[in-house]
Formats: sequence, structure tokens, C-alpha cells
Amino acid sequence: MTDGDRDDGPAGRGHRPAPSERSGTHAAETHGRRELEGTAASPGVGIGRAYVIDPRHIHVARREIKQDEIRGEIDRFRAGVQSTHTQLEAIKNRLPHGEHRQILAAQQLMLRDPDLAARVESMIGQDGISAEWAVDRVADEIRETLSRADEEYFRERGSDIVFLAERVLVHMSGEDDGEFQPPPGSVIVAHDLSPADTAELARAGVVGIVTGVGGQTSHSAIMARSLEIPAVVGVDGILDTVQSDDAIVVDAIRGVVIVRPHADELERWQTERDRYEVFEDRVQREHGLPAIARDGTHIVLRANVALDAEISSALFHGAEGIGLYRTEYVFMDRDVPPTEDEHYRHAKAVLRRVAPYPVLFRTFDLGSDKPTRLFKFDEREHNPAMGLRSLRLALRERDTFLCQLRGLLRAAVHGPLRIMLPLVSGVSELRRAMDAVAEAKVQLEEAGLAHAQDVPIGIMVEMPSAAIVADVLAKHVDFMSIGTNDLIQYTLAIDRTNDEVGYLYRPLHPAIVRLIHRVSLAGKAAGISVSLCGEMAADPRYTWVLVGLGVRELSMHPSAIPVIKNIIRGSSLPEMEALARDVLDAEDVDEAEAMVLEVMQARFPEHLLHGGGQRLTHEQNTSASAIGGGEAEG
Ligand code: PEP
Ligand code: MG
Repeated sequence: MTDGDRDDGPAGRGHRPAPSERSGTHAAETHGRRELEGTAASPGVGIGRAYVIDPRHIHVARREIKQDEIRGEIDRFRAGVQSTHTQLEAIKNRLPHGEHRQILAAQQLMLRDPDLAARVESMIGQDGISAEWAVDRVADEIRETLSRADEEYFRERGSDIVFLAERVLVHMSGEDDGEFQPPPGSVIVAHDLSPADTAELARAGVVGIVTGVGGQTSHSAIMARSLEIPAVVGVDGILDTVQSDDAIVVDAIRGVVIVRPHADELERWQTERDRYEVFEDRVQREHGLPAIARDGTHIVLRANVALDAEISSALFHGAEGIGLYRTEYVFMDRDVPPTEDEHYRHAKAVLRRVAPYPVLFRTFDLGSDKPTRLFKFDEREHNPAMGLRSLRLALRERDTFLCQLRGLLRAAVHGPLRIMLPLVSGVSELRRAMDAVAEAKVQLEEAGLAHAQDVPIGIMVEMPSAAIVADVLAKHVDFMSIGTNDLIQYTLAIDRTNDEVGYLYRPLHPAIVRLIHRVSLAGKAAGISVSLCGEMAADPRYTWVLVGLGVRELSMHPSAIPVIKNIIRGSSLPEMEALARDVLDAEDVDEAEAMVLEVMQARFPEHLLHGGGQRLTHEQNTSASAIGGGEAEG
């Protein structure tokens, strides 16, 4: 945000009317058909008329105040927070149960954060500035810090703060904060949408959402997924291309938006939308059934979850438990680490919701790439992926680690909880972590607190070193889970967050395939389970190879589960093993990819097209649809 009059920033309450309704300002330069690319954030195809929401123009009074005005400004700020809270409450109460409500509840909590309020109020008092200016500055500072994070998730939380600040500013200004009323069948087009706006719009029978910014983990993307509205986000230049009432197609399978499509094309899109809906319907119908292959092999499909808000989606999509609960988010945005009781209560609540299925809690996987204020990192740490992160940090910050372990061990009394240690490099490091687990138990005994004795302890295999010595590690743990996101990063020496080398991120590289095979064999020999919880598990192209290599549990983001399940239910183990054998024999990644794509496209063309995993490139999609007519079992 800028000081002074504001003329940019996320979308707010102003609907930009269609030309016929408009007095003339700020029309997009539009003529014929335009096609723009973005990120598919909530799958599906939406076809309708654009309803454009203009960026809001908020006046931020950059005013210095006198000593005797301080009290009044603080009161105005508090009243603005209170009305925003009440407004969010009203929106939340109009929603059905589920994760969308929890996202709004989380926003209310953020709004009520005493640290945030204290920062604004001390700025008003000490710097002698208006309440608006203080809110704007605090929001800006937080957004600025979070925007430097490597992970999209943290950058997105910066947008949440900006949205909240905007609502507070609107309430303080007394401007109209009226609700949008798009006609049913509209496609919403905006710079960005807050979760509250997204929730309100969903009620209005919106058929698609397009935003100029945002990524997969923005709250509006999560919201759109949970409300099942097709959404493409991060579409550069969308507001300059479209105006209200334009016909628009949201292809949230490929991540493309077509503005003012040709008439004949529109018909094809309608067919595409119907095909998608039939496919979705087919895979969703199986959501209560287990992923059992035709020969009877049961593959356990679980969900990866980072926010409690995602649990309902995991259950809805038929997850048999949580295969990776990323607990680092419990540590975010705070100055003191969570207490043992907080860990306990949180884990217990998660277990209750997921029962009777298990939850694998991964102990904190923080590092200097994730903006936590809790730990001090060396500023010269130029290579955080190889630096003080994850289990290494936990072993250095032993008290914080012990505290989390105690909370988890206590919660395990209430359900099937498993503890998973991230980024284990080898047996010595594992021993140090196991010593901490033993010490946490002793501490609980001394304190006389009930806890489970036999909690399964497992490791993530996400370093090449761990994969290479998996046979030894397997003797000391109860389960192993392969984290391909990091395993690929470290094995192929490519920074997973660097787009410049993204083209090298190829999961079927023979080195990766052999490491996965090695870990699976080690697990089998030791009689322990081996799962895989990297993004690779969510990609329909790789299902046969992974199962064929011996992996019997896959954990993925919830929306990918139905498609992967449908593939497994339509396949048999011998054919999956045959493909895995061929891939193991491949000499290079090109050869491996070609053979996998040929088989999977022939058998599951629609799954590859509509899969919930890593998106295929446009060319791959096009060739997948061109093959068409394959034998896609249901
Ligand atoms: C992985 O590395 O594959 C993994 C699942 O962990 P994260 O993505 O959280 O690093
Ligand atoms: Mg990892």
C-alpha cells in the first residue's frame, strides 16, 4: 500500500459496470477474442458473463495528530476492528459448515491478534499519526516481510493481512461497504479477492472466478476449491482485457481464460464443460470406496494437510487419514513458540475429526526460508535449503522440539497418532531425534501426565543420503514416507523454488526412480510401511510407476484423491509392475517419460487431462486430449 491517496491494491467493493451502465471512466481496452494464461486453482470449466470488480480507491488519511487526539484515534481504530469482526461473523454465519467457515474464523483471529493491535496503537501514540495511516503502515510492513518468503503460502498470508486492513479502513472511513450482487451465472473478474468476498460471491450463483494475482494456496483459491467454483488465478493483465458483460470462459483445468470467445468455439467449450462434469461425477461417486485395484491390492490414499481448514476437504474426497500434517503452520506469526498444551489440544482436535483414521504429524520443518520470528538464523545463510532447517533446527532448539513431542505424545492417547521426523540424513541424526522422543516421555512421566507409550515413529526419506541407507534406517523406525519434493531437489541439485531450473525438475529421472525403488525394497525387507507424500503422489501420470515400484500408501493434496483412486480401481498390480520394470530399465529421463506418458495417455486420457496433480504442460494436455477415446475405467 502507498501513503497518501490510494489508487492501486487489491479489489474491493467497486463493481465496474458494463459499458451501457457506465458513465465512462476506466474502460478496459477491449476488442476481439483474447486468451490469457494463469494458474488453475480450482478445477472445472466455467462459462458466463464477466462481472468485473474494480480495484478500490481507498483514501488513507496521512495525517499527523496532536497529543489530545490520540485517544480518539485509538477508539476509531478499535471501532473499525469491531465492525469488521461483526461483518465477517455475519458472512461466516451465512455459509454452510466446512473449511470456508474456518478460513473466515482464522481471519477473525488474525484481526483480533493483540500483537497487531498493539503495533497499530503504539504507532498512533508514539509516532503521532492517524489511525488510517497506522493501519496502512502496519499492514504494509507485514506484507513486505512475508513477501520475501520463498514459500507461496507465506506470501499469500501477506495478502490476508492487506484484505483485513482494507476492511478496517473502509469501516473507519464510513464508506459504503455494501455487498456485490452479480447476476447468477456471472464469472467474477478481480485483481484479487478476499476469502470473505469469495464466500459471498459463491452464494450468488457465480460460475467462475478469475483474478489478476494469487496462487494455489491463496485463501481465495482454497475457498474456491472448497465451494467448487472453477477458478484461474494470477492472470496477468486480466483487468485491462475484459469488461463487464463480456462473454468469458474459465478453463480451470489448463489454467486458461478466454475473453470474448468466437461463437463456434463457445459450443466446444460447453461440450468440454459437460465432459468435465460427467468425469467429475464419475470419480466423485467412488469417494466412499477404498482404492482397491482389480487384483485386490489395496493402496491407502491419504491427504496432505497444512491447515485445519483443509481437513473437511480431505474427508470429503475420501482420504483414509492424513498422511502428512505439516505442523510448521502452528508456529507461524508468533513471538513465542506454541505451548505443550497448545500442541496437545490442536493434535487432539485434529485426531477427533479424522477418526478412525490415523494422522501423521510431521514435527516442525522450519528454516530461514519460512518467516518465523521464533528462531534466529544467520543472515549470511545463502542456501537455506542446505542450512539450518527442519530436524537440524529442531535438534538445536531442543526445548521447542521436546515441547512439541510432549504435546503429540499426550494427544496420542485420543487416537491413532503417528510422529514423522522430517529431513533425516542418517542413523546418527535419527538416534538424536529418538533420544529426544525418549526424553519427552520421561518428562511426561515425571509430570504425571497421561501419554501413549507406543506411538509409531517414522521418518521422511527426502535426502539422497537417507534413501541410500534406507535399509539401515528401516530397522530403527516404524514407517518411512518418501518426500519427493525435497528428494528431487537434493538429488538433481535443483532449487525447488527457482523457476529458472524448473524444467529440470523431472520425477522420472532414473536416479529418482531407483531411489524410490530402493526405499520401497528396504521397507519391505524390514516389514514396515513405505508411503510417498511428495507432489508426485498427486500426479496421475505417476500412479502406476509408484505402485509398481512397491509403494502402497500415497498421500496428496485432498482434491487429487478421487482421480488417483479411479486410476487404481481401474488397474491391476501386474500391469503397474510391468511399467515400473520398464521404467527402471530406462537409461535416461526422456525415455522414462516417453514410455510412461504413452501408457498412461492410452489408458487414462481424461485423468491426465483433469488430474488434480501437477499440471501437465499445454502441449501434453493437447496431445492427451488428441489421443482421447482411451479406456478410462470407472
Ligand atoms: C517433500 O519434501 O516431499 C515433502 C512432502 O515435504 P515438504 O514439501 O513440506 O518439504
Ligand atoms: Mg520436504
